[in-house]
Amino acid sequence: MASKAELAAMRKAILLSSFGLGTTSPNPSVGCVILDRHGVAVGAGYHRRKGEAHAEVNALSAAGAAARGGTAVVTLEPCNHIGVTPACRQELINAGIARVVMSLIDPTSRGDGGAAVLAANGIDVETNVAPNEALTVLGPWLAATLRRRPYLTWAYSLGGQGSPDVDERLTADLRSTADIVVGCTTVEEGIPGGHAPEHFELPDSLTSDLRQWLSICYATGSRTILAVGAQHFDAFHDNLDYVDEIVISVRHVSSPDGLAATTVHLTPEGFKIVDIAREGRGVRVRLRRCMPDAAPGVATA
Ligand SMILES: [Zn+2]
Repeated sequence: MASKAELAAMRKAILLSSFGLGTTSPNPSVGCVILDRHGVAVGAGYHRRKGEAHAEVNALSAAGAAARGGTAVVTLEPCNHIGVTPACRQELINAGIARVVMSLIDPTSRGDGGAAVLAANGIDVETNVAPNEALTVLGPWLAATLRRRPYLTWAYSLGGQGSPDVDERLTADLRSTADIVVGCTTVEEGIPGGHAPEHFELPDSLTSDLRQWLSICYATGSRTILAVGAQHFDAFHDNLDYVDEIVISVRHVSSPDGLAATTVHLTPEGFKIVDIAREGRGVRVRLRRCMPDAAPGVATA
């Protein structure tokens, strides 16, 4: 069972990992904290950008020799494959880490990933620590990986006069964590990491081509897409299976009549409200499709 210090370290690692959102795709945004043999935090790190060092490596570098005999607390199962960077499980073994506490299991490891290798090397491994909290950062990546299509957030505003209006304030924070941002019919921004698909356009008819377009985006490395604007309304409402999250800014709903007139669109079946915040005279509602059953990637062992 994770100690109080390990649980606190996990939450710090989760917070750290969020700094990688928007720049690591197709890799996950991962955070790691190293505790020394006495349970004192001696190093922390996160995966900043695709192609750069993973969280575990950055945390081990920060900890130095103090990592020997200590514990690595990491938000996702350490990778087991040697790619652009060395496998993290080997880096942990080499550093003399005695225990690894992780939250979510990498669904692509199929039980034969870093956790298994670490345990086979005599390292004490604990999984499934604060998984729901880790999902606040890794949820979209996990959903994208399991479904093999990007996590799609649709954000729009409902103006007070009934005229659809894109609210910059509504999407400012969402934009920073999305690989691709699409407006009405054009792709507004590429992927920060520079691996935007070269030959794609948002289809003229989202309704008929959305699935194919999402497949192309996934294949070319995108894991999160933000679609902005009520002009997508018909296309997305006909294809809600492909929408994972809906963020709606409803303005001027101070009167119950005004709200009643709009609620019919606000909570489509299959989505649940996860957050409501007052925003000026209106409200901002965030709806989310249920994650794949408590995420099959979440470890049970
Ligand atoms: Zn790694």
